[in-house]
Amino acid sequence: MSRGLSPAVVDRFRAIVGRDNCFSDPAELRTYEADALTGFRVRPGIVVLPRTTEEVSACVRLAREAELEIVARGSGTGLSGGALPTPDCAVIGLARMNAILAVDLPNMRMRVQPGVINLDISRHLDPYGYYYAPDPSSQSVCSIGGNVAENSGGAHCLKYGFTTNHVVALTMVLDDGSVVDIGAQHGAPLGYDLVSAIVGSEGMLGIVTEVVVRILRKPQTTRTLFATFPGTDEAGEAVSRTIAAGIVPAAIEMCDQLAIEAIVAATGVDWPLDAGAVLLMDVDGVEAEAVHTAARAEALARDAGALQVRTPRDDAERALMWKGRKGAFAAVGRISPNYYVQDGVVPRRAIAQVLREIAQLAAREGLRVANVFHAGDGNLHPLVLFDQRVAGEAERAEQVAGEILRICMRYGGSITGEHGVGHDKAKYLGELFDATSLETMNFVRCAFDPMRAFNRSKVFPTPRLCGDAPGPYVPHATETAELAGRG
Ligand SMILES: Cc1cc2nc3c(=O)[nH]c(=O)nc-3n(C[C@H](O)[C@H](O)[C@H](O)COP(=O)(O)OP(=O)(O)OC[C@H]3O[C@@H](n4cnc5c(N)ncnc54)[C@H](O)[C@@H]3O)c2cc1C
Repeated sequence: MSRGLSPAVVDRFRAIVGRDNCFSDPAELRTYEADALTGFRVRPGIVVLPRTTEEVSACVRLAREAELEIVARGSGTGLSGGALPTPDCAVIGLARMNAILAVDLPNMRMRVQPGVINLDISRHLDPYGYYYAPDPSSQSVCSIGGNVAENSGGAHCLKYGFTTNHVVALTMVLDDGSVVDIGAQHGAPLGYDLVSAIVGSEGMLGIVTEVVVRILRKPQTTRTLFATFPGTDEAGEAVSRTIAAGIVPAAIEMCDQLAIEAIVAATGVDWPLDAGAVLLMDVDGVEAEAVHTAARAEALARDAGALQVRTPRDDAERALMWKGRKGAFAAVGRISPNYYVQDGVVPRRAIAQVLREIAQLAAREGLRVANVFHAGDGNLHPLVLFDQRVAGEAERAEQVAGEILRICMRYGGSITGEHGVGHDKAKYLGELFDATSLETMNFVRCAFDPMRAFNRSKVFPTPRLCGDAPGPYVPHATETAELAGRG
C-alpha cells in the first residue's frame, strides 16, 4: 500500500507533532518494533507521538495521503501483537496524550486522554474515595486507550465487568481524519450503541483520543481470603461451588503449583510450596455483607477440600498477596528463561478438566505449563515455559499454546478472554467462527475503515478488501422474491 516514506513526508509529520515527537531513525524505531509479545518484530516506517486530537487527525490525514498503513499504540503491553507494526507503517503512539481532562464526582464520570495509565485514574481518585474498576495485572503501565481497544479485563472484573462496562463515551479520529464523538456521557446512548462496537475493536476502527469512563465509590470493606488446596481439581471445585451458591466475589484468582513456585521466588510471599493450587479471593461491599459473604466462601472452600484458609494479617500482607498475583507473569521469568502467555476461556465448571488436559499435553511435548488466571471468569492464562536456546523448543511451545486454544474451544470456550486476537491469534479465529459470522464482523470494520488503513492484517484470518465477496454471490431471499435489488 505504501508509496514509501519520502523525506518530504517525514518533514511534514515533524511539522505536525514537532521534531522531538517524530522518529524515523532505525535505531529509534527499534523500541516500537513489538508489543509485549516480543517474539514478533516488524520495523515501522515512522513513529509519531501527537499530543492532541487535532494532531492525531492531521497525522491520519497525512498518512492516508502518503498511503501509509497506520497502527495505533498505547503503552505496548499488549500480548497478542495488536500494536505490532505492519512493515513501513506509521505508528501513532498515544503515550504523550496522558492528561486527565475532567473529573465529575457527582455524576461519577471522568474524561481522560488515551495515554493515561490505568492505575493513574484510581490514584487520582483515591483522595475522594472513588476508583476505576477494571484492573488488568499490567495496570501500572498499560494505557486506557489500549484497554479500550482490547476490552481489557482484570482480577476484579468478575464482579464489576470488563472495560466495556465502564466506558460511556469516546472521541475518535476516523480513517479520513475527521473527529467524531460517540456514546453518551450521561444516560443511555441514542441509536446504535457504537461505544460497544469500538471497545474491543483492537485499533481497527479509528484512533481513540478521549475516553469518558464510569468511576465507582470504593467499597466500604474488602475481605481477602487465601486458600490452599491439594490440587487444581479441588480449587476448581471451590470456584464452581462459590459461584453456584450465588456469591459473586470481586475476584477469584487461581495459581497452580508451578506458578506458586515462581511467585514465591520473585516476591517473597510465604505461600506454601507444597500446595497444589491456591485461590486468592476478594469479597467486598458494606461491612456486614462482606463479613457474611467471606464466611460463606470460606466454608465452601473448606467443603471443596481446602487445606488451609486464612485472611492476610494486615493491609501490607494483603497488598503483597495481590502484588504476587499481579506480578505472576514476570515472576515466571524466575523459573524459565522464556515463556509464552496464552489466554483462553472455558466454562467455569470445566476448569479442572481442562487443566488436566493441558498438563497431559505439556507432558507429551516435554514442556512445563504454569497456570495463573482469573478463575471466576474461566479465563485461563497457561504460561508455556521453554528455553529458546534449545533447538525446536520455541516452536514446540507455540504449538502447545495453539493446542491449548483448541482444547478451550472443544469445551465450548474461546480463544481469548482479554488479550485480544491481534496478529497472534488471527489464524485461530476461523476455527471459532464460521465464514458468515466473520463476514458480519468485517462489515462493521468496512463501514468505519473501507480501505483498511488501521491495523491492516490483524484479527481477520483471511484479509479481504472491503467489498470483496467471500465466495460465489448468493442472492438474499428478498432479492429472489423481487422485493429488493442490489442497487
Ligand atoms: C504482565 C502483563 C500482564 C497483563 N495482564 C492483563 C490482564 O490482567 N488483563 C488484560 O486484559 N490484559 C492484560 N495484559 C495485556 C495488556 O496489558 C492489555 O491488553 C492492555 O490493554 C494493553 O494496553 P496498551 O496501552 O499497552 O496497548 P498496546 O499494547 O499499545 O495496544 C493494544 C491494542 O490497542 C490498540 N490501541 C492502543 N491505543 C489505541 C487508541 N488510542 N485508539 C485505538 N487503538 C488503540 C493498538 O493498535 C493495539 O491493537 C497484560 C500484559 C502484560 C505484559
